[in-house]
Amino acid sequence: MKIRTLLIILTVFAFTSQVFAFQRETTPVAFEKITDNPFMLKGGRGANGGVFIGDNGVLVIDAKQTEESANEVFQGIKKLTDKPIKYLVNTHSDGDHISGNRFFSEDVTIIAHENCRDEFFISRGERPSPWHDPELAPYIPSVTFRDQMDIYLGSKKVELRYFGIGHTKGDIVVYFPEEKTAFLGDQIFVGRPQLIHSYKGGTSFGHVNVLSKILYTLDAEKFCSGHAEIIDRQTIRDHIAGMKNRQAKIKAMKTLGHTLEEILTHFKENESRLVTSIFNEHKH
Ligand SMILES: [Zn+2]
Repeated sequence: MKIRTLLIILTVFAFTSQVFAFQRETTPVAFEKITDNPFMLKGGRGANGGVFIGDNGVLVIDAKQTEESANEVFQGIKKLTDKPIKYLVNTHSDGDHISGNRFFSEDVTIIAHENCRDEFFISRGERPSPWHDPELAPYIPSVTFRDQMDIYLGSKKVELRYFGIGHTKGDIVVYFPEEKTAFLGDQIFVGRPQLIHSYKGGTSFGHVNVLSKILYTLDAEKFCSGHAEIIDRQTIRDHIAGMKNRQAKIKAMKTLGHTLEEILTHFKENESRLVTSIFNEHKH
């Protein structure tokens, strides 16, 4: 056996065993009360999302990833209310937030930022987007917006806000002004390096701008992330400071002529993707 073949086999094995390890850890979807309403959706396969029960219908934030997890969301909603799910909001286009769209009823209106809808069709490397399949057409966002959209569920208002390019080009915030709560999707990670999807046009500098604007603009105290516990304003400030430090360090080293490989040795191994994104963003 050639060494290269062996390496491929080992890589595939490492990847699949990682996937299985991840699957074993999956816990059922849980509804965590933030205030009276909305709820944060945790557990299951796929990112954290949310549920808001309005006077005349339910709004769901992000769709989980598998049929089993989506069904757990539906069952959980039924325990809380008889009202139908009217809206599904996709905070951005990553699979762990949108793959479950296909398990929602076709009557549900799916809403996203216009760039997010475009990103449904972007291929990652060799892998073409599954959303070209005509059978999935009903589960692609049918309503999009540019800067802001207000949704009234009876008297209850939900604000969808776009703050610009960051994690991707199409991330939005779902803001509940009365509850002082905002769902940020993947616009903040805590306890693991921030993801920046350069292949979708995301940038780390945009990401810092977006978070600063969110803090400046929204009168929110509780923030839900796709991949963290509920966080406060200070956690966002700390995250911004950490990002700015990395950016300054990488810029300084690049200006001194260090290569990406050299710079990577000055950071933790799990930060290599983020460091690479920042490095590539610096053009001088
Ligand atoms: Zn995610």
